[in-house]
Amino acid sequence: MCSQARAAALAMLRQDKNAFLLKEEEIPFLLEAAFALGEKQAAACLSLRGEAESLTALLEGLYRQAGIALRQGELKLPGYRVRAVYSHSPPAVTVDRQEILDLQKEIKGLCLQKGLEPWSLAREMVLAHELYHYYERRDPGLDARSLWRQNKLFGPRYLRSLSEIAAHRFSQILLQIPFYPGELDFPDEGGSNHV
Ligand SMILES: [Zn+2]
Repeated sequence: MCSQARAAALAMLRQDKNAFLLKEEEIPFLLEAAFALGEKQAAACLSLRGEAESLTALLEGLYRQAGIALRQGELKLPGYRVRAVYSHSPPAVTVDRQEILDLQKEIKGLCLQKGLEPWSLAREMVLAHELYHYYERRDPGLDARSLWRQNKLFGPRYLRSLSEIAAHRFSQILLQIPFYPGELDFPDEGGSNHV
């Protein structure tokens, strides 16, 4: 795991509304554990890849297999930029096309350097991230939020950011992206982006 990825993940964790409850010494373990969950599920998905099957086709196949409906919509939330959201029962992903266009512009420079196509990568990066949210709802063992939990009087508190860290890592490994997608969230500009 490169230091830029770790720095981006740490920034996400520090922005979590429950981060004030964390002990400093818990942080390295939590980051590694969240990355590891994303990696494990990406490896499981890649093992289903057919011979000569493109990653685009693999991703489409995983969506079909999961029965996730794909929709388009405007996802504006004050203070946030939301590229896509996942909702469960029935599983559906809603993508904001304008946000994907903006993401495409953000990654253009990086893509040109690495010989990648920014439009399809921007879209697939977001779709893969949302797919992880489906898996963690289906399989509690993949729910990265649960890596840390405090039981409080009015119910347990979780660190939702751990789920985002794992989902970004899943997307990176599944699509073999040469950078960590969480680096694009610019969490210190106030109001993190959520995909
Ligand atoms: Zn997410």
